[in-house]
Amino acid sequence: MSFWIQLWALVAITAVLFRPVCGAEEFTTRFSPSERMTRVRLAAAQESVQTLQRARRNVPVRPGFQDFRCILHAHAEDSVHTGGTRPEMLADAQTAGVRGIFLSDHFRPPRDFMDSWRLLTNGVRFIPGSEVRGFLIYPERSLMPEMQAPLPEFVSRVTAGRGLIFLSHIEERPDHPLEGLTGLEIYNRHYDAKQDFRGLLSIVMRMTNPEDAAELSDLLKQYPDELLASQVQYPAAYLEKWDSGTRTLRLTGVAANDCHHNQILLVKMIDADTVRVGTIVDKDEDMQTVSATLRPGIRRLTAGRKPGDVLVRLDFDPYFRSFRNVCTHVLATDQSELSLRQALKEGRAYVSHDWMGDPTGFDFETDGGWMGDEVPWRPGLELRAQFPIPAQFRLLCGGDVIATGYGPRMTAHVKGPGAYRVEAWLEVGGELRPWLYSNPIYVR
Ligand SMILES: [Zn+2]
Ligand SMILES: [Zn+2]
Repeated sequence: MSFWIQLWALVAITAVLFRPVCGAEEFTTRFSPSERMTRVRLAAAQESVQTLQRARRNVPVRPGFQDFRCILHAHAEDSVHTGGTRPEMLADAQTAGVRGIFLSDHFRPPRDFMDSWRLLTNGVRFIPGSEVRGFLIYPERSLMPEMQAPLPEFVSRVTAGRGLIFLSHIEERPDHPLEGLTGLEIYNRHYDAKQDFRGLLSIVMRMTNPEDAAELSDLLKQYPDELLASQVQYPAAYLEKWDSGTRTLRLTGVAANDCHHNQILLVKMIDADTVRVGTIVDKDEDMQTVSATLRPGIRRLTAGRKPGDVLVRLDFDPYFRSFRNVCTHVLATDQSELSLRQALKEGRAYVSHDWMGDPTGFDFETDGGWMGDEVPWRPGLELRAQFPIPAQFRLLCGGDVIATGYGPRMTAHVKGPGAYRVEAWLEVGGELRPWLYSNPIYVR
């Protein structure tokens, strides 16, 4: 084949592989959470997910490793605002194919959070931990006497051996130092919910009118994952903090599922003209009172019912659905507590929104190293990624976009030393939405 024919073939192949989606090279979402909650958008999202599922090819996981779907930042039986239990979490982990749960009990002295499930049961590994002082902590042993220690001492106690500590809720502490930490949350589900006040208000309004409530209930039955995910945004504030930290430090990025199974919304009758709206964990007096003067449909909801009756009940966040919404895939040699801890320490993990498509088999490597590794810089060093579903991808370093493309594989060259990470986005419901965030390869 002549050089020109070869060149033409290369251009043609590149054009197919690097096809921009929706003309959007800029990796931005298009719809607001409220827009995504409409029937037409939810149906479009579900159809896209089914199409992506058909396009998925099984790709083998790196030899010697397994891809464990894990949940970090998980609450059960640990506060009055938590609705779920550990047995429920176990059953739902099995439903969602989750194989590791790092609990994060709200700190409630004198109770020791290490006195919780620490076992492998029915294929699911539980590791106790706590959400405390702005961190998720997973020490190897009880730390009760040292929980108030000055910060540097506290961090070194937690991280002794294979102990882990991640900075949590980055939006509340953007300037917090990262030295000594295992890593940080790079996505937090609760932050998305907090930002979407309009969506919450619209749900409350819909629940106080019989026809709207029936429609919402039907949407929840037909499009459960799509509805829960409608609030998901690109976590820019989290990623900026991470990208600036990894310039000098090794920091493992994890997803904060922050599940409590408490988004079960209720409408309760006070009298024929008045109802309370709130969640299953709210006391009656803390619920929002809504009257028929504002929402005349309330009279039809209360007709034939008695005070105290639950008129509408919608369960948005059972654990299995939260788990599918976002999780941390941990690449470990086995499912032991030590191996999962070690893998997270080393950055052998990536974050993904699994409801959009199963990313198992994703890999990111270079010559002489892979995700989480430090490798020496040299000119021409090549970085490679593979995706089981062809995706719009980009390679970033220090927040700068180094390369973009489309397809089941990425090949790119480093521009110089730095922490390089990959994002993959999928076209879902007429827009590009973030699907997967790798941990970095550190080129030093
Ligand atoms: Zn909580
Ligand atoms: Zn939490």
